[in-house]
Amino acid sequence: MKILCFILVLSAGFFARSQRESPKIIIGIVVDQMCYDYLYRFEKNYSESGFKKLMNEGSHLKNMHFNYIPTYTGPGHASIFTGTTPRKHGIIANNWLERSSNQNVNCVGDKSVIGIESSPLYGSSSPHRLNTATVTDQLKMTYPKSKVISISIKDRGAILPGGHESDGSYWFDYGKGTFITSSYYMSKLPKWLQDFNQNNNAASYASTWFPLLEKDAYSANDDSPYEKILAGKTTATFPYDIASLCKTNSSLQPFTLSPFANTLLTDLAIIAIEKENLGKDEYPDMLCISYSSPDIAGHAFGPDSKEIEDIYIRLDLELARFLKSLERSFGKTGFVLFLTADHGVVSVPQKLVDDGEQGGYVFVDQIINRLRDSCESRFGVDFILGQTNLNIYLDHDLLKRKKDSVNINDVLALFEKELLNIEGIEQTARGTELFKGLESNDHLLQMLREGFDPKRSGDLLLILKSGYLPKSSLSLNPHQGTSHGSGYDYDTHVPCLWYGSRIKNTEIHQRLNIIDIGPTLLGLIDLPKTESMTGKSISAILKP
Ligand SMILES: [Zn+2]
Repeated sequence: MKILCFILVLSAGFFARSQRESPKIIIGIVVDQMCYDYLYRFEKNYSESGFKKLMNEGSHLKNMHFNYIPTYTGPGHASIFTGTTPRKHGIIANNWLERSSNQNVNCVGDKSVIGIESSPLYGSSSPHRLNTATVTDQLKMTYPKSKVISISIKDRGAILPGGHESDGSYWFDYGKGTFITSSYYMSKLPKWLQDFNQNNNAASYASTWFPLLEKDAYSANDDSPYEKILAGKTTATFPYDIASLCKTNSSLQPFTLSPFANTLLTDLAIIAIEKENLGKDEYPDMLCISYSSPDIAGHAFGPDSKEIEDIYIRLDLELARFLKSLERSFGKTGFVLFLTADHGVVSVPQKLVDDGEQGGYVFVDQIINRLRDSCESRFGVDFILGQTNLNIYLDHDLLKRKKDSVNINDVLALFEKELLNIEGIEQTARGTELFKGLESNDHLLQMLREGFDPKRSGDLLLILKSGYLPKSSLSLNPHQGTSHGSGYDYDTHVPCLWYGSRIKNTEIHQRLNIIDIGPTLLGLIDLPKTESMTGKSISAILKP
């Protein structure tokens, strides 16, 4: 009895402390494909009340990196919110080859659930492939009355941050222009979201995209050979008549790469806070927002384009508007907000080549065909099951059947020898080596290991040289637009800004890992670190 009383007193004390000091609401913002240097590159055109407010008045973690390969959206969001790497949380890419079905699966695709008020293609998604708990899960398990809402244009951008216990994870329906969810979460959209969809359909946001500022305000030229020309356009230049491009393409894809999609998402965030009564009681709530459009535009236009410069100038104003709304609702000390990104991006490799820098393209489909031929001529049979994300998967059943005549190591050795002669390939690693643990301290191999899951990853993994991108030889415009996924700084170094109650005004220059965000969030709301979290809490940004 005495012990029980002691525990009760302790927990009452703990709870009183939480009530006094914990923020009522935590907002986690992920900007898809935001490189660290965008904070400074576009700074002269930022307002005082958006990115610069967070940089000047909050904690600025200036050396935040992803610590695994590959740096894609799915793994990025999962790692930020689980506080661990793909090796543990299992989201090794956006899509991968599933051995059991021999099919490409999406990291949030789930055929066992159906879309709610969605068009047929966009609703069957859930967090069922996410193997570990998120911060949002931990919050819900500790305080069932806490609320977690997560929103994004991309399904994975909403689902992975919201975790398994979310009260509502909502993403964009490219067919209908509305926000949807799946039967994993609920059987009917809440009334407030039905109303929002009715009044705020994407079509009503899609107007003509002109540059926001005068020509001289931009550092990038509008017309560049390195940008993709959208279907329905003859040049990659302003203005973009988004409504008519959507009609030409019979898709809302052009809308999702425009700044208007960021405005739509900010409006949804503000309404969600109000209608879900977030931050209104003693149980801390969490709202996760992932702005996908900078990534969709970034793939098409690249980081050196006027389009990306304009997207960020406008996103800064969205952030300012959102911060103002938060301060109106919760005062300066009633909330905490952090902003980071799920990965960066490389300059268009063709531009690197033309500028005399290291870079280029590796046409992976051609390489795989060559390996298949070598395999057949050496062993009389093709052992390659498939390739995704620079992972080569071998057919284990076939290898088992041929085990008397062929050893897997001989197949891998043959491939390694061929691959290392190909321009753009830096190194290779066998899945078995990554699984066992590495003896070498090689930075890139260690990152590859953190991104490796023995059940989901391949048998042989490739690392490209800096500045190179994998491409298919069937790409229509291989030298326009760009991507991400590597372990180099341009893909790993992202902004990390914290602002609000309990957050110091400081700058931290020490190199930190993205998986440190999860434990820091738990520290902020006085929750214990979960077993699966491998990051470390960044206590230097928290007031005592
Ligand atoms: Zn991307």
